[in-house]
Amino acid sequence: MQEFRGKSVIDKIAMGEVKVFKNKKTEVKKTLIEDVSLEIVRLEEGLKASTDQLSKLYKKALESVSENDAEIFEVHKMMLEDDGFLNAIKDRIKEENVCAEYAVECAKSEYAKLFANMDDEYMQARATDVKDVSDRLINNLLNKGEGDFELKKPSVIVAYDLSPSETVSLDKSKILGILTVKGSTNSHTAILARTMGVAAIVSADFNLENVKDGETIILDGFESKAIYEPDDSLISLYKEKLEKQSKDLESLKSFIGKETITKTGKKINLFANIGAPSDLPSVLSNDAEGIGLFRSEFLYIGKTEAPSEEEQFNAYKEVLEKMGDKPVIIRTLDIGADKKADYLGLKDEENPAMGLRAIRLCLTNKDIFKTQLRALLRASEYGNLHIMYPMITSGSELDKIDVIYKEVLNDVKPKKLPKIGIMIETPAAAIISDKLAKRVDFFSIGTNDLTQYTLAMDRQGENLDEFFDPHHEAVLQLIRITIDNAHKEGIWAGICGELAADESLTHEFIKMGVDELSVSPAKLLDLRKAIISES
Ligand code: PEP
Ligand code: MG
Repeated sequence: MQEFRGKSVIDKIAMGEVKVFKNKKTEVKKTLIEDVSLEIVRLEEGLKASTDQLSKLYKKALESVSENDAEIFEVHKMMLEDDGFLNAIKDRIKEENVCAEYAVECAKSEYAKLFANMDDEYMQARATDVKDVSDRLINNLLNKGEGDFELKKPSVIVAYDLSPSETVSLDKSKILGILTVKGSTNSHTAILARTMGVAAIVSADFNLENVKDGETIILDGFESKAIYEPDDSLISLYKEKLEKQSKDLESLKSFIGKETITKTGKKINLFANIGAPSDLPSVLSNDAEGIGLFRSEFLYIGKTEAPSEEEQFNAYKEVLEKMGDKPVIIRTLDIGADKKADYLGLKDEENPAMGLRAIRLCLTNKDIFKTQLRALLRASEYGNLHIMYPMITSGSELDKIDVIYKEVLNDVKPKKLPKIGIMIETPAAAIISDKLAKRVDFFSIGTNDLTQYTLAMDRQGENLDEFFDPHHEAVLQLIRITIDNAHKEGIWAGICGELAADESLTHEFIKMGVDELSVSPAKLLDLRKAIISES
């Protein structure tokens, strides 16, 4: 039995079998080799294993999807046969006496940059394929297999780290909990775990190599610890705790159908945060009064190309239809920082959290933005759509958005117009919220980024948790200013960052006059209970 201490993402307990998640992406070390010809043989073997896998994948895709979709595996095979690419790898092995995987990693970076800098959009998107196929080759060279991961039964995922795209690719119905060596409680991976309502401990002190598939593990989110191979007495203790947990959850059900209103009669709109239509069952079963934040970027990440207009339209329509006449706030693409999509071919930045992300990216890649706006406006007639723009810092950004929005509007001519709002998640936006309030229908305060930018502290920073303080008076003051300014202009203001679910602040938020709180589906009934008991 071993105990690993970490940081808890959610007050929840889980117990089950371990399933170790092997990241596809492998850290490649530069190792010097003695025998070049042996290394070339190793490389040839890796290449053969990779092309064999690709041929199988091509055949499988032909049977299960379309020829068009299968084509990509042929393209990958061709890349592995390309003389330029192969020579770049071989020359490095010969000239620098380095191991094959390191030579592949170098060729991968060179070629991915080359593609990303091309003018043609199709060629830019090939940067992702170079990375994909190179990672496959590296995995084979390191005998890591294809790196594919399949959950056969409900398990506790144990990983070194999980990126948001890896997390979204997991089968949510089979995740009991998540335990990682890396990670911060404010990252999007942590947010996804909260949305799923599963126990999660990040930044835990354990060695992944010592953890084996199939062993029993307990995650205790209340005590921020994991217990690996617990003894019988602990197993029975946690069985009791799990029973109590389900009873508590069951008793919260009595709040379903109740109005979210304080004892003094103040109505709070209690909405849910989601990342995909697949989150809807828990939104509905936990009786959300609307969707306060649909992080649309999760439709874009973990893919090899951007979702088409049709794919997006179907996702938005599904959410709108299932929510009936309840408000649905869909945030436009907020990619950047920890949320990445290789196919966009974005250049690496020194400070991605302060880089070309969210609305800035959309205003520089107008085609992507227009496709999303088209899909949204087409879907508008199926429900109560609210469009929300992320990371706004100025009125001039709104001017630029307006030009594009009007162009798309004229083209689509929707039967029903959506309401338009912005996220207040930069100090700049909060400070000029008096002016911004004149231009939109609502505000939603993103306390995760607002804290990050107000305190000048990376929300991903693993060593910053003791300093990262969303309760900081400066953050609360900006929230207060934003709500006041919204009300002065007769618009409503909500909070959709993680702070919305922090019950120690519910009283304060109500006093500030907040109109809406949007939280992960698993927190809805807890929060309704807290609001109802507020006086
Ligand atoms: C926020 O910043 O508070 C927010 C809700 O957006 P995200 O967490 O997706 O950046
Ligand atoms: Mg944000």
